[in-house]
Amino acid sequence: MMYPFADYVDILGTQYKIELKTRDEDPGLRHGDMTHGYCSYAEKRIVINDRSKQSNFSEDEEYSYLRHAMKTLRHEIVHAFLAESGLAGNAKMCGSWATNEEMVDWIALQGPKITKAWLDAGALFSLDIYSERGNE
Ligand SMILES: [Zn+2]
Repeated sequence: MMYPFADYVDILGTQYKIELKTRDEDPGLRHGDMTHGYCSYAEKRIVINDRSKQSNFSEDEEYSYLRHAMKTLRHEIVHAFLAESGLAGNAKMCGSWATNEEMVDWIALQGPKITKAWLDAGALFSLDIYSERGNE
């Protein structure tokens, strides 16, 4: 399967490598809740489980796996933003919002819709997504 993923993503000025690996190739993907993917803040990389190598999928299944992999990548990018911005590292309490999986997943799921609403409402220039001005 062809994934539309970039090789690197800029997270607040830090380059994170995006890697597609199978569970056999990356032991990190065999840990409990990191089976779909994970973000290594120390190594500055995001690993997504490439399930397309594990079996032959129909076109419909491929599309569904691709959408899931994209959602997982968004989820891991949210983790990276929280880490690079200092919020995850400064989370003192267990269960802090900055390390809460439900909150991270909520942003990953709703992010595209929020971005569309911001664009539709005129609260964001589409060019701001690709420029430093978007951070103002
Ligand atoms: Zn997570």
